[in-house]
Amino acid sequence: MIITIDGPASAGKGTLAAALAGHYNLAYFDTGMVYRAVGLDMMLNRLDIYQENLAEEVARKLTFEKMMSLSRNPEFRGPQGGKNASVVSAYPSVRAALLKMQQDFALEPKFSDGRPAAGVVYDGRDTGTVVCPDADIKFFITASPEVRAERRYKEFLAKGLNISYDEVLQDILARDERDSTRSAAPLKPAPDALILDTSLLSAAEVFAKACEIIDSH
Ligand code: C5P
Repeated sequence: MIITIDGPASAGKGTLAAALAGHYNLAYFDTGMVYRAVGLDMMLNRLDIYQENLAEEVARKLTFEKMMSLSRNPEFRGPQGGKNASVVSAYPSVRAALLKMQQDFALEPKFSDGRPAAGVVYDGRDTGTVVCPDADIKFFITASPEVRAERRYKEFLAKGLNISYDEVLQDILARDERDSTRSAAPLKPAPDALILDTSLLSAAEVFAKACEIIDSH
């Protein structure tokens, strides 16, 4: 079974995807990681992320194993990691170079400990439209920018990062603008996606709603 969860930054995709993967015993692929890995690899090698050809070269060389190794760097999930990922993910050549790696995961899905899995939950803004257009169930998760900023702000605080709520909100608004106006994979729900607005729902309520939909499918 393939489930995709698309939507804007900090809408709750990751929380829902991880919970669904655990509940239905499926592997989990957080596709934002491929762009974070390219951005971080460039930053560590002092490459200019605003040069598409350099980003493409790094993307072509990225392997699943290298991505997992880069993900252990504290910068990977930090605010700069998110910004860099958003910049490199806007390049069509970078998206094209990373597509096969994301799609191949569904051919032989694996849990993080290497055991084979019977399916995948994909999390990422284009997973239902581009990565897995034939997925069994597609969700599009959304929430207001203020609610998403509040969630991300709390995550950063919990990690001990020194950042203000206003900075996080401005960053979310800038990313929304970049993500929805860019020509490469502009953010939009697949025509057959089920849209869930999580602004007024707790993570447990979103999970319960999604399970209800999957179980009736
Ligand atoms: O989800 P996460 O915050 O890790 O994603 C980092 C960035 O990567 C997002 O801002 C988004 O622009 C980009 N991304 C993307 N396509 C995906 C997943 C993430 O363009 N499938």
